Amino acid sequence: MTQIQLSLNRLRDDLKGSDAELVAVSKYHPVEALSEAYACGQRRFGESHVQELCMKEEVLPKDIEWHFIGHLQTNKVKYIVPFVSMIHAVDSMKLLREIDRQASKVNRRVECLLQVHIAQEDTKYGFTPEELLRVIDEGEWRCLEHVHIAGLMCMATNTDDGNQIGMEFRSVRELFDRVKALYFNDDEGFRHLSMGMSHDYRIAVREGSTLIRVGSLIFGERNYETKCT
Ligand SMILES: *Cc1c(COP(=O)(O)O)cnc(C)c1O
Repeated sequence: MTQIQLSLNRLRDDLKGSDAELVAVSKYHPVEALSEAYACGQRRFGESHVQELCMKEEVLPKDIEWHFIGHLQTNKVKYIVPFVSMIHAVDSMKLLREIDRQASKVNRRVECLLQVHIAQEDTKYGFTPEELLRVIDEGEWRCLEHVHIAGLMCMATNTDDGNQIGMEFRSVRELFDRVKALYFNDDEGFRHLSMGMSHDYRIAVREGSTLIRVGSLIFGERNYETKCT
């Protein structure tokens, strides 16, 4: 077994008995690394650069479920909408509208998560909890037939303080419950909370994550020199 396969199996063992599923974040890693994970049964991969994702999608097996987890620019939506399974970080109505528009052209309904800005950092994208509630209440999303809002996504503050991270994940979990009760009670498909990365996935799982996005723990450190975008 390769190092990637060993790490993957260790992580799977760790997730046993939880509700969380794994998105293997393969950005900046070569196709060979994804193939090793694939050979070990992994089918759900996360990427955050459009060109890199399109290149990998072209050469890897078609039964892979591709998740776009990064910040997505509206002018690039059209390249991934024909095949992407889920877009995790929708952070504006403008972006949601464009996904809907492009998805209608290829007759698809794309699963989307709304990104909540929770971290104490200026650099992270997303709706504040207040903005999120307002945008959902306004209801335009109900008219967009080619996107489905499947839940929320967030990134915690990049800190070693587990209490802080736990508090942030919990507050997004509570926001999720509230949005679910108010607007999606009759939609069983609104069920995802994408939170948790290599360093904080255990906390995220404890706080109710359904999709963890783990990269370096599986694939090792990313080499930004060989970025293929
Ligand atoms: C890169 C990335 C991850 C994975 O990070 P690791 O620390 O390698 O697990 C998760 N989520 C997003 C949005 C990312 O861009």
